[in-house]
Amino acid sequence: MNIKSLLRDNIRSMTPYSSARDEFDSIAEVYLDANENPFENGMNRYPDPYQKTVKTRLSEIKGVPAANILIGNGSDEVLDLIYRAFCEPKINNVVSHNPSYGMYPVLSEINDVPLRKVNLEENFVLDGQKMIDASDENTKVFFICSPNNPSGNLLNKEEIRKILDLKRGIVVIDEAYIDFAETDSWLVDLNKYPNLIVCQTLSKAWGLAGLRVGMCFASAEIIKVLNAIKPPYNINILSQKAALDALNREEEFKQHLKVIMAEKVKIEKALTDSKVIKKLFPSDSNFVLARVENALELYNFLLKRKVIVRNRSKEYLCDNCLRFTIGTPVENQRLIEGIAAYEKK
Ligand SMILES: *Cc1c(COP(=O)(O)O)cnc(C)c1O
Repeated sequence: MNIKSLLRDNIRSMTPYSSARDEFDSIAEVYLDANENPFENGMNRYPDPYQKTVKTRLSEIKGVPAANILIGNGSDEVLDLIYRAFCEPKINNVVSHNPSYGMYPVLSEINDVPLRKVNLEENFVLDGQKMIDASDENTKVFFICSPNNPSGNLLNKEEIRKILDLKRGIVVIDEAYIDFAETDSWLVDLNKYPNLIVCQTLSKAWGLAGLRVGMCFASAEIIKVLNAIKPPYNINILSQKAALDALNREEEFKQHLKVIMAEKVKIEKALTDSKVIKKLFPSDSNFVLARVENALELYNFLLKRKVIVRNRSKEYLCDNCLRFTIGTPVENQRLIEGIAAYEKK
């Protein structure tokens, strides 16, 4: 499969920005090459444009070489880079499923690249052939979100494989919630598919949504292109340091993950037992989607008790559905009590 031929013409032929650190990336005693201010305050120097120390640690955790990793200012930046690398505005298109993550349509509009939405089946099941049928010779990227937001479920691997095997375009698998799922990441198949990009983030299981650090894993060829078009210093010094610190505290990550998973079981049980809940959808994420009689009414009831959940009723297959993120044990208790009070009312 020829990845180069999938790139936009202008990207294929561009000259990337060459930073001072690109031109000299070694140890010296005096740095007078980047027009920085010489007075030390911890941030007077430009950050490492390739975040080498963070990638070395990520590489250990994920089992993927650093050359196959790109770090972005949140995975939202990574997704935007993918649009800009492959999709010619007004000419190319991308395919995703419906419902899915709300950033794909937004990025499609910003980049002027039409998004073709393929409805999921009952219970949010993916039909790979329908994604393929929606594509044509102008399709450059398929966006697949697994575990899916807002439904919470993993999408079937064999259905996704059909799209990868078609080799018609890049297949992005957004794994923002993969740490909550009891299954292998698509990273294990990275070497098998030259057209696969796996996106992950530190925003969810790693507890760093405020830091804005997301990443993708792909062939060295794809990573090289994304590196060439990203803003050179997209991850600032503080973010690189905080990301590294967090990645070095893996025990804390695992401990919090364990609590969230146990709390999810507790919430699922409470929701299953509640007469208010008409249907609870199975979740491989840190949230659950549930159908109720009147989503807006329950939303407002909880709001009065200062508990905010997400009303997803307007999404396809989600009529009268609320999405509950798993919080701390105390927060979850507030949710469960709120629903119980609504039931009694
Ligand atoms: C939360 C989320 C992200 C994370 O985006 P960041 O920009 O890394 O915070 C990505 N994809 C999906 C589907 C999400 O729900």
